Amino acid sequence: MTGESGIAAAESTRTAALSTALTGLSARIESACRAAGRDPAGVRLLPVTKFFPASDVEILYGLGRREFGESREQEAAAKVSALGHLSRVRWHMIGRLQRNKAKSVARWAYAVHSVDSERLAGALDTGVGAARAAGHRDSPLRVLLQVSLDGDVSRGGVLPDDLPRLAERVAAADNLRLAGLMAIPPLDADPEPEFARLAELHARLRDTHPEATELSAGMSADLEAAIRHGSTCVRVGTALMGARPITSG
Ligand SMILES: *Cc1c(COP(=O)(O)O)cnc(C)c1O
Repeated sequence: MTGESGIAAAESTRTAALSTALTGLSARIESACRAAGRDPAGVRLLPVTKFFPASDVEILYGLGRREFGESREQEAAAKVSALGHLSRVRWHMIGRLQRNKAKSVARWAYAVHSVDSERLAGALDTGVGAARAAGHRDSPLRVLLQVSLDGDVSRGGVLPDDLPRLAERVAAADNLRLAGLMAIPPLDADPEPEFARLAELHARLRDTHPEATELSAGMSADLEAAIRHGSTCVRVGTALMGARPITSG
């Protein structure tokens, strides 16, 4: 097959693969919820589309998905702009974010899961304020605070001790809404105790900020453990999209 029919065939193969993977993931999430005695409606699947082309997002959109996670600002901004014709899409920035990218992210993100410093929160607040004034968006930005579970802040995340102060900073910002917490377990760690600790931090945060209901936890390999410990949003890349191409970055 060549030309347009070849492209159409490739696209329908990809659609079938993504559709099958979505069905499998929904079943996985449902059975994890059942095992944990939770209502599956309380756990959202956030497809992570980083490293995959805009055409994949379009296919997922056609399969009914409206929320997507991206982790690199430049790649995300390009996809958002290429997919401007899709209505009601909510883009989640889930990766590490440098302050100098806050202004751009403020224009396209529905939520940021990786806020880990007051300086970054301040930059996002300012950026969203500017984006609202310019008519690029009308709603505040939903913010999840990323917690460092192993204390190695070079991998991102705020230390648990610094969480209350950062939460206050976000809650007080005009253009931000404190939505909850996010964490990634340390590499090679048993995720179970890590997610248990995260759940404790989340409960403590909700004592002072009851609006912070979201817990973004769990990825392809550990979503069952995260769901056992209260995850409301699992961020899934590999188990949905397939293996990411190997890159140096
Ligand atoms: C890439 C990424 C994911 C998805 O990871 P998989 O193991 O491929 O499911 C989740 N969260 C963050 C922050 C990521 O960068």
